[in-house]
Amino acid sequence: MSKWKSIGQLLLEYGLTDDEGLREGLKMHKATGMRLGEAMVKLGKVSRDDINWVLSKQLDIPFVIVEDVIPNDELLGKFSRQFLIENRIIPLHETDEQITIVTEDPLNDTAIDLIRNSFNKKVNVSTGSGRKIEKVLKKAYEKATLPELINFLEGIVERIRETSFYRLDFLPGKTSCRINVFGAGISRHIATLQGAFTKQDIFGAFDGLDIPFLYDTFTGDDNLFLSVYPVVNRPDVRGTPVISGRYGLCLPPDITFTDTAIHGLAGFFRAGNPVPGYGYFATKKGCPASADSVSVIDAAPDDFRECYIDAYIPGKCPSCNADGCGDCNDLGYRFTEMKGVYSSDDLNRRLKEGIHGKD
Ligand SMILES: [Zn+2]
Repeated sequence: MSKWKSIGQLLLEYGLTDDEGLREGLKMHKATGMRLGEAMVKLGKVSRDDINWVLSKQLDIPFVIVEDVIPNDELLGKFSRQFLIENRIIPLHETDEQITIVTEDPLNDTAIDLIRNSFNKKVNVSTGSGRKIEKVLKKAYEKATLPELINFLEGIVERIRETSFYRLDFLPGKTSCRINVFGAGISRHIATLQGAFTKQDIFGAFDGLDIPFLYDTFTGDDNLFLSVYPVVNRPDVRGTPVISGRYGLCLPPDITFTDTAIHGLAGFFRAGNPVPGYGYFATKKGCPASADSVSVIDAAPDDFRECYIDAYIPGKCPSCNADGCGDCNDLGYRFTEMKGVYSSDDLNRRLKEGIHGKD
């Protein structure tokens, strides 16, 4: 006897319907040509989930609890959004040889063949609730609104306000945007925002918070890397080169040239090199220190004697050893303020002590 059982038999066997329900379903199936399972759902005799579950038994394929699925952004990006939502498919994993998906309808050969052919890989099929697949997909593609984005950024700014993290790096993907913070040689992933964001969205959020900034963009094949340097502080010294290493950095006074792009800062102009007689704001290494210059700490000249340093020095959080915990606001580091006139030796010693501990 064949191992293959009909959907009707299985529904009865698992007690999901009775003879009467099945009879009505078969009647509709014959009259309309609709699949038996679908007819049973239409008649309200069983749920979609019941059918999926039974199908997974019949086809001996795994049944996935879709609520527990967290879609992989990169893998999702390889499919068209419309295709996945229409066919109610979530790609789960991909290896060199195969790709695993969860689908409402494991008998949807058109869609499964399309995946097999476009990836040129074996497709492992599992099944799960279509309604929930659609919900998970819609959530994955959902985009935060501008007020939400502003709120989100404000939360990040709060967390890094008194730290050495002066730069925010945005790595927008197809369905989410990774945000890292950077400063004093440390880059840390701080948040991932759901949705596909453009440079304009991110600029709009900073505008909403009234935070002017300098920025750099790097574009790869189809990805953007955006570095934002919020500048909100004013220096409290003049006549000495300044090295700034804190959130909000500090602006040279008056007209200033800088090696980055500029947003929302009047009196700032871009220039590859310092312009004699004017302030210069350097984010990249190699700029000589002058009386009117401000450099970020990571671009500090290698060998200087007297610079005014306004920075936070990071030290590994003793509670979590940089893993991130409640004590350090999940940043992995604690920060000590360093303010005053120092030499590069002083600065390097403080940085070394902070990160590696005292000898
Ligand atoms: Zn910690």
